[in-house]
Order: sequence, then structure tokens, then C-alpha cells
Amino acid sequence: MRLKDKVAIITGAASGIGEAAARLFVENGAFVVIADIQDELGDQVVSSIGPDKASYIHCDVTDEKQVEEAVAYALYKYGTLDIVYSNAGIVGSMRPILDIDMNEFENMIDVNVCGGAAMIKHAGRAMVARKIRGSIICTASATAIRGGIGPIDYTTSKHAILGLVHSASFELGSYGIRVNCVSPITVATPLTCKLPVFNNFCLDPELIEAFASVTLNLKGMVLKAKDVAEAALFLASEESSCISGHNIVIDGGLTCTSNIYP
Ligand code: NAD
Repeated sequence: MRLKDKVAIITGAASGIGEAAARLFVENGAFVVIADIQDELGDQVVSSIGPDKASYIHCDVTDEKQVEEAVAYALYKYGTLDIVYSNAGIVGSMRPILDIDMNEFENMIDVNVCGGAAMIKHAGRAMVARKIRGSIICTASATAIRGGIGPIDYTTSKHAILGLVHSASFELGSYGIRVNCVSPITVATPLTCKLPVFNNFCLDPELIEAFASVTLNLKGMVLKAKDVAEAALFLASEESSCISGHNIVIDGGLTCTSNIYP
């Protein structure tokens, strides 16, 4: 019960890593607001977790008003806001730089970066106003620290998330609010299905997991959404109370080596 009676908002929690985090946070005693654009899936996650512990709100993170409303909803429903996990993200078109479409590029930045910034702004304001020494966590990616292991627009957006985390941790540190980041390599989720290695779509979990296993330097391991959620749980909990502005890279050692996956 590392988050007993804490209140958390998790964006992008109708699916994948965010869903795993919602389940883990609730298992650890938290009340969770799932903020996503996939309403049906979001409602299903709430039903399976239990409506007494989780609730869903439609929140498109590219719409600042909806982000502000999600924060207001958490405060109204549960009376406080201790944790925000800004995790919603898209992988985009995956075009190389020579073919990049600037509208698609802007959309990627809008979701992955501006969405996170809006959430930090409004959650930060709520925490500062109530003197809550909260914890804010973002999902970046192993592509946040290396070029060439992901599409260029995605990689750019994930590098930007690190800048956001570093600077927000500095600015909010004076209010006792921590801001950190988790950076996974490949996890089998609906997002991974869209990778070009699968000709832009794959529904075979075994194939996706086989690919995920070769993106780790730790042989015999496959990164799961729950592993990423465990890192987010650590950053959300009191156990990391002196850690801010940092990025936990969950890549089985891959980005520490010069040997990027085949
Ligand atoms: P996913 O597709 O399962 O989940 C992403 C969620 O974000 C979805 O539920 C989706 O509806 C939501 N979302 C998308 N756009 C949104 C918007 N505008 N507003 C609100 N919600 C929105 O994928 P995932 O793999 O669980 O991805 C979660 C995060 O992890 C993303 O930020 C992704 O970039 C990052 N990540 C994933 C991997 C991986 O291999 N799966 C690796 C590194 C980082």
C-alpha cells in the first residue's frame, strides 16, 4: 500500500502502460482518475478495477481546457491531487526526415509535448494552491536519450519531454513538488503494433514480444507494461521523496552500449 489514500490522474490510461499503472496504483491504495480519449476502453478499465477506486474522464491532452477540467474533476471527486502521471502519447507516421510532413510533426509535438506541459501546468497550479508536495511523472522513451532508435518526430518529442521534466522539476521544486520521468524501450502495447517493423500493423502478441525481447540488452527478458508501471509507482511513492528531475531508463542496458538493436 505504497500510495494509500493518494489521488492520482493518469493520462493515456485506457490502454497499455497507463492502464497497467492505473491497476498498480490502485493495488497500492490510490484513487485513480483515468484521463483518455478512448471512452469505451476507459470505462471498461474502470469497471474492471472497481468504480469505488477509479473513475474515467474524457480528456484530450491537446485541449488545455480538457486538461484543466480533468484536474478539477480529480479535486472535486476525491478532494485532493497528489500524483499526476502524464503518459498519453502517440507514435505518429514514422516518416524519415526527408519525407516529413510538418502537420504530422506538429501533431506529434502537440500530443506528446504540449499535452504533458498543459498537465504539469494545471496539476502544478492545483498542488501549489493547496500546498501539496506532489509527484509528477512523465513517460518519455529510450528514444529520449538516443537518436536513430525510433522515428525522428517521435524521438524529437521524447527529447523535449526530458527538457520539460528537467525545467519543471527546477521551477516546482521550490514548492516541494517533484517531477520525474520514465523512459522505456519497446513494450508490447497497441502503440507498438503500429511500428514499421510490422509493416505498420501487427496483432500477433508473440511477434511483438519477440521483437520487444531483442530491443533489450538483457537476454531472455521481455519488457512488460507492468515493469514501466513499477518504475512510475516508485517515483509516485514516498520512497523516492528526494528524487526529482530524473529519468529512469528501462531498457535492459541497451542505451548504455554502442550496440543498438538489429
Ligand atoms: P497505448 O497506445 O497503449 O496507450 C497510449 C494511450 O494514450 C491510449 O490509451 C490513447 O488513447 C492515449 N492518447 C493518445 N492520444 C491522446 C490524447 N490526445 N489525449 C489523451 N490520451 C491520448 O501505448 P503505450 O505503449 O501504453 O504508450 C504510453 C506511453 O508510453 C506513450 O507516451 C508512449 O510514447 C510511451 N512509450 C511506449 C513504448 C512502447 O514500446 N510501447 C516505448 C517507449 C515509450
